[in-house]
Amino acid sequence: MGKPALFIDRDGTINRDCPYCKSADEISIYDDVYDPIKELSKRYYIIIVTNQSGIARGYFTEKDLALMHEKIKREIGTRGGRIDAIYYCPHMPDTGCRCRKPKTGMLEDAKRDFEIDINKSFVIGDAEIDIEMAKYAGVRSIKVRGTKTEIKPDFTADTFSEVLSIIRSQEKATTEL
Ligand SMILES: [Mg+2]
Repeated sequence: MGKPALFIDRDGTINRDCPYCKSADEISIYDDVYDPIKELSKRYYIIIVTNQSGIARGYFTEKDLALMHEKIKREIGTRGGRIDAIYYCPHMPDTGCRCRKPKTGMLEDAKRDFEIDINKSFVIGDAEIDIEMAKYAGVRSIKVRGTKTEIKPDFTADTFSEVLSIIRSQEKATTEL
């Protein structure tokens, strides 16, 4: 039971990718994200899951990251949407941590913190690691923007508006079963 979740990648999905964004000023949210998130906030937990090894690399601090995330929550909130939580992995790729995507640690943390209906949930992201994490976790995946991945996502979208259409049609298909 519970409520379904959208596990959404941050860089290249919610905001334009800037390699190791260091400050809130560098965060620029894609325009096509606001309206879909506004609608989807009504029936999904909106949860961002993001690798941020820039912390371990010393490029920015947890405080800087908190400011970036406050900005994302605030801007989406101002436009009528809601971000329920942001999980991030601060570690280097080679540390063998449980949280760095494509591992599923952040999803498991979210499942611990919220009552999530995982079968009705989606992972949304622009990169191979997002799709891979979704497969490991048994969650449907939607690849948005980004380049072609080797691991095939369940759905592909060019824009976030298209993500909304895909989710709507899947909801409809489930209802009609
Ligand atoms: Mg990304």
